[in-house]
Amino acid sequence: MRHTKHFDKNLYNRWHRRFDNIAMVDIDQVECCQIKGCWQPLALVETAYDTGNYYKTTTITKWLGEKANIPVWLVFYKKDEIVGGDSLTFKVRQIYPIYGDLKAISEAEWVSYLRNLQHKHYLEKHCDKKDEIRTTYPVSNKDIK
Ligand SMILES: [Zn+2]
Repeated sequence: MRHTKHFDKNLYNRWHRRFDNIAMVDIDQVECCQIKGCWQPLALVETAYDTGNYYKTTTITKWLGEKANIPVWLVFYKKDEIVGGDSLTFKVRQIYPIYGDLKAISEAEWVSYLRNLQHKHYLEKHCDKKDEIRTTYPVSNKDIK
């Protein structure tokens, strides 16, 4: 019998809710440095499927972002019916350090933002593996100063 394919992703959450006087939330995405051995968190993201309801509680994620001094985003996503496949479109709102407007962005724009976080982490020399990075980090030479 195979257990890996159809496991219940909410089993732990449901287990946790059975007990009084404890509390938890899930964090949907911790964008982190892509370099093995560094893995520093670069941003926190709460995600929700875009149903037209653009509200989701972000209190704890914002709190953690402030403590870690990393950006926090709220991201609503849905399938891009024009492009098709696994492509998504987004409506995003920055939560921290500024509380921004909800804005519609493309898949390419969101990926570009996330890649820029990686570049900035490296270029500002925050990466724990910055000495090893030249051989592994996929940036052009003009990005490396
Ligand atoms: Zn790093």
